[in-house]
Amino acid sequence: MTDADSSSSKQRSFDFDLFVIGGGSGGVRAARMAAARGAKVALAESGALGGTCVNVGCIPKKLYSYAAGYAESFEESEGYGWQLTSAPRFDWQRLKDARAKEIGRLNGVYLNLLNGPGVKVLRGHARFAEGDAHTVEVNGERHTARHVIVATGGRPYVPDFPGRELAMVSDAMFDLDPFPQRLVVVGGGYIACEFASIFKGLGSLVTQLLRRAHVLTGFDEDLRHFIADEMGKTGIDIRCNVQVSSIRRADDGALTVVLDRGQELRADAVLFATGRIPNTEGLGLAQAGIETDENGAIRVDAGYRTSQRGVYALGDVSTRLQLTPVALAEAMVVVDELFPDPKSKGGPRQPPDYDFVPTAVFTHPNIATCGYTEAQARKQFAGDKIIVYATEFKSLRHTLSGRSERTFMKLLVHEPTDRVVGLHMVGAEAGEIVQGFAVAMQAGATKAHFDRTIGIHPTSAEEFVTMREPSVG
Ligand code: NDP
Repeated sequence: MTDADSSSSKQRSFDFDLFVIGGGSGGVRAARMAAARGAKVALAESGALGGTCVNVGCIPKKLYSYAAGYAESFEESEGYGWQLTSAPRFDWQRLKDARAKEIGRLNGVYLNLLNGPGVKVLRGHARFAEGDAHTVEVNGERHTARHVIVATGGRPYVPDFPGRELAMVSDAMFDLDPFPQRLVVVGGGYIACEFASIFKGLGSLVTQLLRRAHVLTGFDEDLRHFIADEMGKTGIDIRCNVQVSSIRRADDGALTVVLDRGQELRADAVLFATGRIPNTEGLGLAQAGIETDENGAIRVDAGYRTSQRGVYALGDVSTRLQLTPVALAEAMVVVDELFPDPKSKGGPRQPPDYDFVPTAVFTHPNIATCGYTEAQARKQFAGDKIIVYATEFKSLRHTLSGRSERTFMKLLVHEPTDRVVGLHMVGAEAGEIVQGFAVAMQAGATKAHFDRTIGIHPTSAEEFVTMREPSVG
């Protein structure tokens, strides 16, 4: 839009101050906060409110991860004197029903969050009207808005190969019927590792296929090796440097997965968790002059502004970090810019510090991390010394549980400033532990601060404040 267009858009009258396309985490947050500050807001969503996170992502995944964790707890309890008088039996249908009920409840919570401050919720697919980035069509009706936020999220990507239609994506895993006794998981990222752990815990025989040598590309190398060992110990058969050539259905209904070296695997379900792509199809972005990049993600500047003035994009559709809390933070930056909070003492929020976003992978055991990997730290601070502290140990819990699970922790310290620039963990409740340390890292904590901090004894987390001897420098 040119400046002349923009000044005419100021004089133009609009149906809404803000139109949000997409009712996932980022979209709902932006809509309800803008409305709470007095803006006239509409939100369009064609699916269930809450988006991927609530319906087929973080929340049901974590619930299933808890379900899977009981298998270990039952086994471990014997070491603590418990006797199970009969073998525990897992009821998949009961778990699915309980999850569906809880997600239904959350969908209602999201609707109330929007209804409360008066957001007009439009149920249908939204697209920009041709040539006008300030007019959005939903179910054949046109709505104009001074500002538009695109927060349509992403969807699973599955490569092309013969039999692709027989592959599942993560969205479908929550309601599989029947329970897959043999599951093949393709991919080594967040989703693949989490589902491999979940279904292993729930009782499937799980084979995980990686196209490279290790799981979790992009994570710290030591952590990648450590978690692969731990996942292997739980019984997941991880096969490296292998690709799927085709999938076919055998006469008995089972699937045959043909690998690139000619080997065949039999499975009841095959999950492809091979990345996610932005949901930009059918939005009419090109006609409205909104640019996308080579991956289809909406191009945005540091303030989440697209190539069209007044139009913003946040969360997975603009692909910085595909994480719910990042989308929430981005939503608040845009809302603060468009509809400043008169009560705010610190002024408008700044974009999050993308280098220090903590994240967890809910494998068994969990992974959590904040800051740079060792390789990233050495590159980022090239020429400066990076001091590495690492430890691994059997946690107190497993001295009696009979399990050989071990915990891994690693700290990276930038020697010239003493700042802790990377913190990595594999172990029970890693996500809960690293969240706290992330605050310290955001505040610029140094190794001296860690050293001065008194540990909470006996916990695994205390190891982060008692590491004294560097492993390498
Ligand atoms: P990721 O990018 O994490 O992993 C994709 C995996 O698929 C990689 O192992 C990649 O291999 C592999 N892959 C890609 N293409 C192919 C192919 N053609 N054949 C075989 N393997 C292939 O994506 P996910 O789908 O797991 O998750 C998407 C995002 O969602 C994550 O990056 C994360 O941001 C978010 N997420 C966060 C969660 C959390 O916070 N706990 C949970 C789930 C998702 P390679 O490594 O070789 O490239």
